[in-house]
Amino acid sequence: MEIEFSAHEFRDDEKFHLARYKYQGDESSGWKIYRKGELFETLGKGYVLLKTCYCGICSTDIARANLPFKLPQITGHELVASLDERFYVVEINASHKARGVKDATCFYCNNDMDIHCQERLTLGIDRLPGGFSPYVLAPRNSLIPIPSNISTVNASITEPFAAAYHAVTTSVRKEHRSVAVVGPRRLGSLLLLALKLYREKWKINFTITAVIRNEAMKDFCIKVGADNVVGVSEIIDQKYDVVFDTTGSESGFLQSLRIAGNILHIKSTSGKPVEGLTRLTEMVIDELSLASVTGSKRNILYKSIEDDSVSEVAVDESIPQVLLEDLTKCFPEKIFSRLNFLGDFGESRGYNKQYDLAIASNLHKLNHVVRNCDGKTLMRAKSKLFLYKEGVDGGVSVSGELEEALFTRDVQLHTSRCGSFKHALKIMSENDLYFEEFSRTFISEIRDIEELDEAFEEAKSDRKKIKIVMRH
Ligand SMILES: [Zn+2]
Ligand SMILES: [Zn+2]
Repeated sequence: MEIEFSAHEFRDDEKFHLARYKYQGDESSGWKIYRKGELFETLGKGYVLLKTCYCGICSTDIARANLPFKLPQITGHELVASLDERFYVVEINASHKARGVKDATCFYCNNDMDIHCQERLTLGIDRLPGGFSPYVLAPRNSLIPIPSNISTVNASITEPFAAAYHAVTTSVRKEHRSVAVVGPRRLGSLLLLALKLYREKWKINFTITAVIRNEAMKDFCIKVGADNVVGVSEIIDQKYDVVFDTTGSESGFLQSLRIAGNILHIKSTSGKPVEGLTRLTEMVIDELSLASVTGSKRNILYKSIEDDSVSEVAVDESIPQVLLEDLTKCFPEKIFSRLNFLGDFGESRGYNKQYDLAIASNLHKLNHVVRNCDGKTLMRAKSKLFLYKEGVDGGVSVSGELEEALFTRDVQLHTSRCGSFKHALKIMSENDLYFEEFSRTFISEIRDIEELDEAFEEAKSDRKKIKIVMRH
């Protein structure tokens, strides 16, 4: 099979340009992608060719130039596509499992964590052409039929809604009484909706507060699910059990950190460092969490190590021997490895595997275990990071607001990336009327793909345009 077409590709000048593409191959033998007549990418087997119908513009598309993936790239990952006159939403992680390819050595695909498959391409984000192309190659197992009571254009919200719902289930617990969403716009309004539906489903009693900078967003936030809306300046001393930061900016992160009582959840991948966390975007991509441990306050660490998902623990060389000895005594069945966190994670002993938990003695080392200078990681996806400080007379000396929140207020940082599309569609379908009304507020415009440049600039700057969906 062979198909040739022009597509809007995103380049490092942060603009779209039309380029000629050709896909050649088939599902059983694999595909070759040609760009401007030259071989651009070779795909394995398990991809099917679909015609794109709709694709939403997302903040990840806007931040694309800051992300650790190469350009040019045909972006767009919130898509609806058709095959043989049927319409599907498409899961974006092209893992072995999604492609229907068996690989006994892939830990993630064999442990239900296939979105973290190390050999995955990501549709519209990493190498695999996305939904701003008229045709996509999608992993065969990633096509999910759209329920009859959801319209094809509204189904383009599935990807970001799935991610929002997953973020909520990751961080909100029965005991939580107050949840805040800071800076709601695209992701934030989906979080407000997800929180409302989650609260109804599980009968949890928490308030949903939207924290806004722009007064004009007030009605919108109430409409999509917030119980109340407050301005950034009004909440200086207020604390919320769980805070979702959706601003993608350092000032928004700090604002969120200040009002976080228990958990600060980050889901956006802005590619920018915040508060000494230079690998925050990679932490989100790998869904890592962060908490603190001191000489005397160890309960969160010990609880985390107890978890069945933890078997290998990496301990920074500078962590005191007494702590390591106690850990080894308390958890004889777990494996603790003392490592130089600034090492090159190369061939030397202890670096060839990935760890489920790491204890670092400073932020620099913590960043390094997430990604070292060669882009390698020491951590398994969904693993837990701990920052250690020696307690001095029951207290620790902290520098910066992040350490202050982690050590003096025991705030934990959670992250998450993709959610289950099937689960999301089920919830959307069960709440179809509510979802229909949400979509009317949320989707500001449907534009023709030829207007992508203009629509993209508006999505970036116009605060009234929440979600712009492109139509092919
Ligand atoms: Zn997105
Ligand atoms: Zn895999």
